[in-house]
Amino acid sequence: MDCLFCKIAAGEIPSQKVYEDEEILAFRDIAPMAPVHILVIPKAHIGSVDEITPENSNLVAHIFQVIPQIARAEKLEKGYRVVSNCGEHAGQSVHHLHFHILGGRQLSLEMA
Ligand code: AMP
Repeated sequence: MDCLFCKIAAGEIPSQKVYEDEEILAFRDIAPMAPVHILVIPKAHIGSVDEITPENSNLVAHIFQVIPQIARAEKLEKGYRVVSNCGEHAGQSVHHLHFHILGGRQLSLEMA
């Protein structure tokens, strides 16, 4: 499958990894929108939040267990935002489920 994040997960395209285990990978966003901007992905291909099912939601739970560990390692004790863009109206540009972790400065309160 021609998926950028599948290639990053497979190590075929380099990334700045901050966390990895058998199921998930976290790496720095190539175009950071905050001092800390990390993407967390399942290694298995899930297209977006819209494709989360009872069969694969364990990966999402695992991602959300690891996010606080990453936040601690990145010294985001003042807070951070977790975002997932899903589909055209949200501006999803890579069609492999990913959660943005944004922090390191006061973030805008604008949600839309
Ligand atoms: P989204 O627009 O929510 O689909 O987010 C996709 C994100 O992937 C964007 O923030 C991009 O900057 C980021 N991105 C695209 N290509 C790469 C790459 N090769 N390595 C790291 N981040 C990337």
